[in-house]
Amino acid sequence: MALIVQKYGGSSVADAAAIKRVAQRIVAQKKAGYDVVVAVSAMGDSTDELLDLAEQVAPLPPGRELDMLLTSGERISMALVAMAIGNLGYEARSFTGSQAGVITTSLHGNAKIIDVTPGRIREALDDGAIAIVAGFQGVSQDSKDITTLGRGGTDTTAVALAAALDADACEIYTDVDGVFTADPRIVPTARRIPEISNEEMLEMAACGAKILHLRCVEYARRYNIPIHVRSSFSQKPGTWVLPHVEESEGMEQPIISGVAHDRSEAKITVVGVPDQVGEAAAIFRTLAEAEINIDMIVQNVSAAGTARTDISFTLPTSHGQIALAALKKIQEQVGFTSLLYNDRIGKVSLVGAGMRSYPGVTARFFDSIAGAGVNIEMISTSEIRISVVVAEEEVDAAVGAAHTEFQLDADQVEAVVYGGTGR
Ligand code: ADP
Ligand code: ASP
Ligand code: MG
Repeated sequence: MALIVQKYGGSSVADAAAIKRVAQRIVAQKKAGYDVVVAVSAMGDSTDELLDLAEQVAPLPPGRELDMLLTSGERISMALVAMAIGNLGYEARSFTGSQAGVITTSLHGNAKIIDVTPGRIREALDDGAIAIVAGFQGVSQDSKDITTLGRGGTDTTAVALAAALDADACEIYTDVDGVFTADPRIVPTARRIPEISNEEMLEMAACGAKILHLRCVEYARRYNIPIHVRSSFSQKPGTWVLPHVEESEGMEQPIISGVAHDRSEAKITVVGVPDQVGEAAAIFRTLAEAEINIDMIVQNVSAAGTARTDISFTLPTSHGQIALAALKKIQEQVGFTSLLYNDRIGKVSLVGAGMRSYPGVTARFFDSIAGAGVNIEMISTSEIRISVVVAEEEVDAAVGAAHTEFQLDADQVEAVVYGGTGR
């Protein structure tokens, strides 16, 4: 029998009415003759609410306890979805990540899936039941503690289950009709992308387009799983994220697929680093030991005669305080003057495989940002992406300007935001 894995995000299960609607959808799939496995997220913004609660109790809660707390959100929705399905006369069994066999590394808050052993899911399916799995969580292979996969991680749970169960498709249900050329919440004229290559989707996700979790796209690429991103509020077709998007004959690939933005990063500047061999290595080794992911790095030329330079880098805001503390410890040894911290920044990225063969894309991108009166603070590029850091309050203007410059605006508004708060 064909098997479908579906994922429903927080906005799709935000309240009792939404859960009942989702249950109908799941049952419809079952009635159509499929085996169905569902990964669910916590209701609405409840993960954020749990985080706020933790912060009120302890400013830096231990990762183990935070994960224990956060995984409760997905357990609430899995049980409610299973009950709602039961109420429609179909059998559903809910499973925590650990029960579903999601085995991870032990890094709390950002654990990676090592293996999926879905014995109990198979059993449930063989008994004719629908399996509902709590997303975003697993159990550490070493410590046996409960872990979470990072914000947005239910997408990854779904794709990992699809791979382990050899599913025919993985559907990601959310509050917009698919992947658009920009976030429809800030660019209402964004266009739906019917098909996008895994490579481009990977860049979009890495650049903050939170429609898909980055590791879900990596997983889908590794295991060759096609993903269909669509709305749980409509019946419209969404976006297929495919291992290879065939170029239609005679049609040129668009130069740009989309504009992504990210407000979740902060910038640290290490001021007055002595300009000598090994200093940058010492700084970034310390950050690596603290398990901090660095994104962009800029090192200025040392000012004439000072023999000192500034090094700036961006990192997730959630790691900001840990990074500052780690760097302060090596201030004397490295001999830098001071540290500057700014979390009011945003990153705007232009993504498109077509830019490989088109010169001048960078100039047009910078022109459009200048035209919007926005100052660029940092720049980084890859083969199919250009990113800039700007002030946080200028992100929307920069995204809109780049979107228009590359003719991505739809003639008629097609982007609908059905739910969610965008938090
Ligand atoms: P879910 O709760 O379903 O996981 P998320 O909030 O994590 O939903 O992701 C969906 C949101 O992603 C959309 O509501 C939209 O605001 C945002 N988004 C960002 N970039 C894009 C994009 N390029 N296309 C579509 N949505 C995007
Ligand atoms: N509930 C988690 C979050 O808000 C995981 C998810 O929604 O995918 O990040
Ligand atoms: Mg999400």
